[in-house]
Amino acid sequence: MPHYDLVIIGTGSGNSILDRRFAGWKTAIVEKGVFGGTCLNVGCIPTKMFVHPADIAASVGAGARLGVDAELRGVRWRDIRDRIFGRIDPIAAGGRQYRVEHEDNRDVTVYEGEGRFTGHKELTITFADGRPAETVTAGRFVIAAGSRPAIPEIPGLSDVDYHTSDTVMRIDDLPERAVILGGGFIAAEFAHVLASFGVAVTMVARSGALLRAEDADVSARFTELAAKRYDVRLNTTVSKVRRSGGGVAVELSDPAGEDTVEAGLLLVATGRRPNSDLLDVAATGLSTTADGYVKVDEYQRTEVDGIYALGDVSSPFQLKHVANHEQRVVQHNLLHPDAPVAADHRFVPHAVFTSPQIASVGLTEEQAAERGLRYVTSIQDYAGIAYGWAMEDTTSFAKLVADPATGQLLGAHIIGPQAATVIQPLIQAMSFGLDAASMARGQYWIHPAMPELVENALLGLELDPAQT
Ligand SMILES: Cc1cc2nc3c(=O)[nH]c(=O)nc-3n(C[C@H](O)[C@H](O)[C@H](O)COP(=O)(O)OP(=O)(O)OC[C@H]3O[C@@H](n4cnc5c(N)ncnc54)[C@H](O)[C@@H]3O)c2cc1C
Repeated sequence: MPHYDLVIIGTGSGNSILDRRFAGWKTAIVEKGVFGGTCLNVGCIPTKMFVHPADIAASVGAGARLGVDAELRGVRWRDIRDRIFGRIDPIAAGGRQYRVEHEDNRDVTVYEGEGRFTGHKELTITFADGRPAETVTAGRFVIAAGSRPAIPEIPGLSDVDYHTSDTVMRIDDLPERAVILGGGFIAAEFAHVLASFGVAVTMVARSGALLRAEDADVSARFTELAAKRYDVRLNTTVSKVRRSGGGVAVELSDPAGEDTVEAGLLLVATGRRPNSDLLDVAATGLSTTADGYVKVDEYQRTEVDGIYALGDVSSPFQLKHVANHEQRVVQHNLLHPDAPVAADHRFVPHAVFTSPQIASVGLTEEQAAERGLRYVTSIQDYAGIAYGWAMEDTTSFAKLVADPATGQLLGAHIIGPQAATVIQPLIQAMSFGLDAASMARGQYWIHPAMPELVENALLGLELDPAQT
């Protein structure tokens, strides 16, 4: 049975661990799917590559009120799809080829199969092509096995052709109508993409608002805007799904009664679950949280000495920039176990690339209140800064939550054009402890540019007199 110094499971962020500093280590990488993981193949990158043409398509209709009469003559879905995957697939193939063939990796064995723990620090790999399974042991493991779409138990679901984010981007033809189950960020991004390309979208959410994890004001604004664009069903459950014609019939139930929506496509986007169960991490002595995340300490160390975990399999953030950060932490700690560094999860931002764009970092107002913190908030509309006024924006805003005593920002939430970019100075301020008054007045803000939104939001905070 081969024994390795280090075995890495998963080639998402896990694939970036091995570099020249590991020369001389006997290492192996195990990957059951496509090289490069979720973000590259079925996550961040392709979705944002669909969002860009969707934004272009959607902007055509938005020009009329500004005096630009343009018409969308059509959307060549297959061309859009093939351009995207024609760029992505070679990168995944190149990543694989590098690990399998390049002489930099002569100490790296690549197992293209599915790993499952079968004992203490013992992994058995099975292969799709029917080759006999192989079992390996290692002094150190990195579990970087990611997450997968969670599929809810809905009567009839297994009898119909439904999609998840793993498959929907490769469909051949757009349907006339799509039903999207879920009200989170994946549902919101695909609703924007499909609707911009001319698909009638029904969004079905169990709760009373979309993007419920966002600050309540942001969630409420997004829900209100989404309802103007899509057929949004809130407080709604799916009682049954069945085949109908060439598509599906989705039977819905809400407090007002029952309804059935027929659609050519059903997208299940009801969250993601960590892959720890498929890996049987208990067999190597690891436990998981109630939600299935492998338990790690601040150094990304699991409960078993020498086993680390990172990314979606252990991190409820489920974000690529978090997986990458944790990968750098694990990499350092493998190389320097006696001087480990801790992961920094203080101010983890995220964005939702829907329309309008949404970005957020730190505490929502509700979280600040729940924690009993003393806080102040400031809401700055895009319409109140020159650039937003020029755009005649009427719905976008930034909301800040701050500690009035210190001027430190506790949270920042933006819904509107370029939110994911505009929020970055606020992330920087929180990460480096810059207080609101110093940030607002200690630098120039380019006029008339979008970051004036941040400047005005900062100035709108009613801080204690010592801070102003
Ligand atoms: C539709 C979508 C859009 C997203 N958009 C964004 C975004 O805009 N911004 C953002 O920050 N994040 C986004 N994410 C989340 C982001 O993709 C993930 O947080 C990130 O890819 C997680 O990286 P990871 O390395 O933990 O796991 P992954 O990238 O999933 O890598 C895990 C790898 O392990 C392999 N594997 C799993 N089990 C086994 C096993 N038993 N044996 C062998 N191999 C195994 C898998 O095949 C996979 O290749 C998005 C996700 C989705 C689904």
